[in-house]
Amino acid sequence: MKCYVCAKEGKETDAVAVCVACGMGTCMKHTVRKDVDVWEGSYPLPSRKLPTRMPRMLCPDCSNAFGEGK
Ligand SMILES: [Zn+2]
Ligand SMILES: [Zn+2]
Repeated sequence: MKCYVCAKEGKETDAVAVCVACGMGTCMKHTVRKDVDVWEGSYPLPSRKLPTRMPRMLCPDCSNAFGEGK
């Protein structure tokens, strides 16, 4: 798979990751890795935060959509 962002710019770069949100392939430069908190919510217990954070690969577009600093 080629990086979609690079392809739009007319370049051909091998994709190293796939965006978890939209499925777009992205190269090293265009992959945004976000560690998101994992929450466990099971009725009737209140949600509690798990100690681990899950890394997620996002493309630049989805990263913007999710918002920074969240
Ligand atoms: Zn790229
Ligand atoms: Zn995406």
